[in-house]
Amino acid sequence: MGHRLQSITPLSSCWTGIHTRPSCPSKLNSRKSKNMEEIDDFQVVVGDQESVEKKKSAIRAVGPAKLQVIADFDATLTKYWINGQRGHSSHGLLQQENSEFNIKRQQLHNYYHPLEISPTIPIEEKTKLMEEWWGKTHALLIEGGLTYDAIRKSVSNARIAFREGVAELFELLEEKDVPVLIFSAGLADIIEEVLRQKLHRSFKNIEIVSNRMVFDDDGHLLAFKGKTIHVLNKNEHALDMAAPLHDRFGEVDGPPVDCSLMKKRTNVLLLGDHIGDLGMSDGLSYETRITVGFLNDNVKESLESYRGAFDVVYLNDAPICCTFKEPLANLIS
Ligand SMILES: [Mg+2]
Repeated sequence: MGHRLQSITPLSSCWTGIHTRPSCPSKLNSRKSKNMEEIDDFQVVVGDQESVEKKKSAIRAVGPAKLQVIADFDATLTKYWINGQRGHSSHGLLQQENSEFNIKRQQLHNYYHPLEISPTIPIEEKTKLMEEWWGKTHALLIEGGLTYDAIRKSVSNARIAFREGVAELFELLEEKDVPVLIFSAGLADIIEEVLRQKLHRSFKNIEIVSNRMVFDDDGHLLAFKGKTIHVLNKNEHALDMAAPLHDRFGEVDGPPVDCSLMKKRTNVLLLGDHIGDLGMSDGLSYETRITVGFLNDNVKESLESYRGAFDVVYLNDAPICCTFKEPLANLIS
């Protein structure tokens, strides 16, 4: 199929070639040839090694003070599969107290999701459809009287988990004062609750740009703040939509992260699971950007396009631990 896969290298090397699953050492030893039939076992693919090496050198040369991380949330920071089932998204996990509204939102999903993934609908038309979908869904959340308590319970009951190593990654970035922008078409309040419940701590370097809810004093949803962020307009949103995570946590001393400072950080590490996520850095005039794509499903069909679009591609719901932390530590040490 014309794919030139690179040599198998030890897991500890830095985004070099292709890595195999650490849990399958026997496959590593027995592998003699590399072809598309074998990619189910691979974890990391680097398309243009030379280009990645140059970018890594450029980022290392100026250090962590010039670096920022921009990450998608669903299926990028979170796992795609959990115990053999698809993990919930920040939208998908939400259960309103009035179940009639859950059914209505599911009906919207059943109608719009096939349109979202349709390859034949022109992008302008699809963008309007996505605006419609997000608008109707948000309206149902308000009409159905969503409470913050329901968000807490929904997250607690959800099938959602961070990829292995995400907490350690955040810790490393916090230690090096590298800001992390989580940029999502999901729901900011839910992402915050997932961080709170799953990581059990807050990070002063993390900000979230996503659809943010406004609650009344009794914890009932009143409205959404600002322009709706859906899957096709992430690139239109300026960083000044970012709201400090810790405004709500009230646990961290000192001023919130200043978004204008993020614009001065000219090196970007971007993480996403859709090619459209590459647009998350459109608001920045970066000098060097390393893009990491998480190709979670339809690997054989999509590998070529992901490898062309992203500098580094993680396959098969790969963990961030082992394969990610060390390359990153080398970048910002
Ligand atoms: Mg995603």
